Amino acid sequence: METIEEKKSDPAVGPLPETESFGAHRAPLQQFETLALHAGTSADPVTGAMLTPIYQTTTYRQEAVGKDKGFKYSRSGNPTVSALERRLAALEGAEFASCYSTGLAATTALFLSLLRAGDRIVCSQAVYGGTVRLLRQTLAPFRVETEFVDTSNAHALRDTLQKATRLVFIETPANPTLKLTSVDLASCFVKEAGALLAVDNTLLTPALQRPLDLGADIVLHSTTKFIEGHNATVGGALITRDADLHGKFLFTRNTIGAIQSPFAAWLTLQGVKTLPLRMARHCENALRVARFLESHPRVTRLVYPGLRSFPQFELAQRQQKAGGALIAFEVKGGVEAGIRLMNSVRLCALAENLGAAETIITHPVSMTHGAVPPEQRAAAGITDGLVRLSVGLENAEDIIADLAQALDPSAKGGCP
Ligand code: PLP
Repeated sequence: METIEEKKSDPAVGPLPETESFGAHRAPLQQFETLALHAGTSADPVTGAMLTPIYQTTTYRQEAVGKDKGFKYSRSGNPTVSALERRLAALEGAEFASCYSTGLAATTALFLSLLRAGDRIVCSQAVYGGTVRLLRQTLAPFRVETEFVDTSNAHALRDTLQKATRLVFIETPANPTLKLTSVDLASCFVKEAGALLAVDNTLLTPALQRPLDLGADIVLHSTTKFIEGHNATVGGALITRDADLHGKFLFTRNTIGAIQSPFAAWLTLQGVKTLPLRMARHCENALRVARFLESHPRVTRLVYPGLRSFPQFELAQRQQKAGGALIAFEVKGGVEAGIRLMNSVRLCALAENLGAAETIITHPVSMTHGAVPPEQRAAAGITDGLVRLSVGLENAEDIIADLAQALDPSAKGGCP
């Protein structure tokens, strides 16, 4: 995997007020791996402690009325959370980041910051099921109109932007179909339409894709996934180069009380240090597992953006640094066989998360995308038999051996 020529950020910056721009503290150009370890933090000036402490405090003593050190109350800002925000902003090549209690809290803050009753949002047809539920069930009653569109189809996207639109929200690759949307093309259409473009970059992370460099206005992360990477926290982030947008996000986060906890931020700061190494290994393993599955006689359909057989392979090569860790596939025998496979794995965990060190296998229709109406699932290509695999960091041979035994009809509990 290539390294990314990075925008710089000063690793030797201590806890700053959350509203401060990183632009003023830029150091000589540093590479992605270095930023993942150092950006936004420095040794404690009093004790020399290498790691930013967990500032487990509610409030901050003020020197005088109206005179504080940049923090007042931990709902509006916390030094450990700010350290993570500086790190994530640097990794996405941005000036500003704000962190939230979960990925969906970040999505909620994004929508509440930018949308008003009567506004229209265009959203990728295939996105995380919780995003669909938020738009359809929570925001629709407030008269926010959502149009779910196949954003991988440039004509469909351009056509739908004929109608006044405030925000376009895309997920690329889409969870769980792995369909790609061209970010630079989308950004061009969205700018023409006078709207804003937000990209959910959870599935690739800035190690593999940097949407702001491709013209997006906002990047969203569920840091729960690869960014923290160890199945230990839930968290989210909104990242932007636009100070006004960042100000709106901070305001909303404070008003709805959705900031990340200092402990989760601290764990995420440790997890993100190995992001480049982990993503490289995730991709290597996923490619090997995808090749194994693709050649398996019981696998009827497989999508993996790192394989030549992937329908948008050219776009994947242009837009991404590698194929990523997720594979979607179907097995002979349809839904029943897919479910039997998922019930038969031993090393892979049948679970709802993705992006963790451990390999996770998921049945989107009954798990992550259960809240998506069947018609939308059908339109998005989320079939009942679809299996999603988030390939972890185990030895690839062990993952393959586990899938092989689960696919073997003679194995106990295996496919028929
Ligand atoms: N975005 C994507 C692509 C996801 O897969 C998820 C969760 O699975 C979310 C957002 C929501 O994140 P969280 O579970 O941290 O709220």
